[in-house]
Amino acid sequence: QIRVDSVSKTYESESGPVEALTGVDFDVGHGEFVSIVGPSGSGKSTVFRIIAGLEASTDGAVLVDGSPVTEPGPDRGMIFQDDALFPWRTVAGNVSYGLEEVGPPEGFTTEERIDYCLELVGLTDKADAYPKELSGGQRQRVGIARALAVDPPILLMDEPFGSVDARTKTSLHRELLDIWAETEKTICFVTHDIEEAVYLSDRIVVFSTAPGTVLDIISVDLPRPRDRTGDAFTKIKA
Ligand code: ATP
Ligand code: MG
Repeated sequence: QIRVDSVSKTYESESGPVEALTGVDFDVGHGEFVSIVGPSGSGKSTVFRIIAGLEASTDGAVLVDGSPVTEPGPDRGMIFQDDALFPWRTVAGNVSYGLEEVGPPEGFTTEERIDYCLELVGLTDKADAYPKELSGGQRQRVGIARALAVDPPILLMDEPFGSVDARTKTSLHRELLDIWAETEKTICFVTHDIEEAVYLSDRIVVFSTAPGTVLDIISVDLPRPRDRTGDAFTKIKA
């Protein structure tokens, strides 16, 4: 579904050009959960922004269902590390944001869709709260609900759980896998936490700073993530 085809990216900076990606190739199949891991500066966020359509590649292309990506679209929901919620909108107002432009998915009114998404992430009782009244984990959940609202087939996540504590992270992982199982999304997930990547993904694309190249693509040889139990995870950690 997503094809990253020989993507290179050079940034022009004050101190000269920075090669962030050099000929990166990988793909993410329909309904697959693929993580991108690698050290700081290896180009993970750069490739994320190119897939999202927030940034153009210098060379190569990203194709979604065969069409080159040139801008963000309702087919790709995005979730960021710093959650990036609108502080002046309530939780429900944040979730309704995308719906205002493209309308609710078939079979829902806008109100029903907001309720449905808040229920998916367990925040029904916070609908009228403002972001500053929420914990970090709750804000991340709002970000997920907002991205899910327009029912995009693809979810792109850049270190979404980087700033929450370990326990909250574990519960967000379970929720994400539940949502994924329930909604059949294609997920591309950036993290530098290899353990998180192993727990969540079907496959892991490993980036290296050599600069900005794919070092390896690893298939996680475990039951499908959505069928994984705590036992499988304990085994990986052992
Ligand atoms: P981290 O794990 O720290 O988030 P990353 O793998 O996401 O790192 P990128 O943010 O993609 O890394 O950055 C890749 C390289 O491109 C780095 O060397 C970075 O300094 C450079 N870079 C990123 N954005 C820009 C920019 N807007 N202008 C110039 N250089 C940039
Ligand atoms: Mg990054």
